[in-house]
Amino acid sequence: MSLLIKNATVLTVDAKGTIYNPGAVYVEKGRIVDVGPSDAVAARHANAQRVIDGRGKVVAPGLVNAHSHVGFTIFRGRSEDAGFNAPTGLYFPMATVMTREDRASIGALNYVELLRSGVTTTMELEEDVEVLAPFVEKLGVRSAMGELLSDADPDAMVKGEFKFDEKANAEQMARATGFAERWHGKADGRITAIIAPNMTISSSREQLRQARAAADKHGLRLTIHLGWSDFEKKTAKKIHGAGSFEFARDNGFLGKDVVATHCYVVDDSDIDLLAKTGSHVAHCPLMNAFRGLIAPANEFRKRGINVALGIDNMFADFFDVIRSAVTCARIKMAHPTALMATDALEMATMGGARAMGLEKEIGSLEKGKRADLMMMDYNALGLIPTLDPVQNLAYHAHARDVELVMVDGRILVDGGEVKSVDRKAVIAEAANASNSAWGRFEKKYGGPIAKAS
Ligand SMILES: [Zn+2]
Repeated sequence: MSLLIKNATVLTVDAKGTIYNPGAVYVEKGRIVDVGPSDAVAARHANAQRVIDGRGKVVAPGLVNAHSHVGFTIFRGRSEDAGFNAPTGLYFPMATVMTREDRASIGALNYVELLRSGVTTTMELEEDVEVLAPFVEKLGVRSAMGELLSDADPDAMVKGEFKFDEKANAEQMARATGFAERWHGKADGRITAIIAPNMTISSSREQLRQARAAADKHGLRLTIHLGWSDFEKKTAKKIHGAGSFEFARDNGFLGKDVVATHCYVVDDSDIDLLAKTGSHVAHCPLMNAFRGLIAPANEFRKRGINVALGIDNMFADFFDVIRSAVTCARIKMAHPTALMATDALEMATMGGARAMGLEKEIGSLEKGKRADLMMMDYNALGLIPTLDPVQNLAYHAHARDVELVMVDGRILVDGGEVKSVDRKAVIAEAANASNSAWGRFEKKYGGPIAKAS
């Protein structure tokens, strides 16, 4: 199908930050064939099969969510106020009671929410990630997907003990590599596999080394949570005899093909390691703010580190992440212009594309790139006047303002409604799965949060 959106405000997010107003985008066979001033583009493509009059609309690249656990949406309304009890009191124990079917249903919900919020690409990390792949294929979004590896015994971790289990490692590595063999490059290339140990303290040295070797063998990228608490720092020293960043570096988890997530508990030497190795950072300011911590995103950027944005978990509106990137940077720097709307939009698009190694394919609206884009209706409450479309996007837009979303030229959201799946059925299945999983959780752990005994 060919499609022309004309008379719109087009935010290209190219290297110069070009905005065409009025602008047009012409899409054919899944790619952006033309983008520029509206009259000129429209004249060149008068035979487009579908023409959208974009008056009052803003077209922007699809958002790239560089860090997600869609199944963790099950913790919505339970983890936000749980502080650092969340990993050991909620996340690890839930993994022991949640079924594959629960995960598939709840994950599907968050993929739909993200799509509805303009997110066209997600890096998704989860136990049993493969259960989500058929839904991703059907929904039509782009996703890097990684089996979350963690060979430390979860029940021991609840008690603060770290026991590594060779059998668990072997099973997880088999799942991760099996997933890569079955799904990497599938769904017309929209699904890619990624190797994803959870964090340095829940993986043995052996697991990290095997994970790096598997990534190299299959040509996959890697990601890990890093620099997320003092507890992690101290525990890494205790169980591995090295700081978490050094341990990651020594076992293949810093480098140009690695996305380090969070990095909000970092010292100068940690930042040096990220910069020197060319690692990318998935900055999750909204989630981090809920834990009372802010990563030094400005310092990362100053040192030449690519910073992408991630929603992490529980949340559904990516515009809140973009806003948080700005507000958190300004609080961190105690400076009212520390990070600007254009910076945040760049991080939410090209930053994510670079982190995922997809900067030549997605992240900006440029000729030849894949047609991953969103169109927002700015004739809306909260978005008038439109004196600066980028500031309105970063500070005032919400998921509800997204009217159309396209991936690979296929329209997945039209008129604000998800077209590729049944939204109401997805919501109902997720609600059922959540009730059933929390029922089992509370029975096993005696309440809504597992306590170390
Ligand atoms: Zn995470």
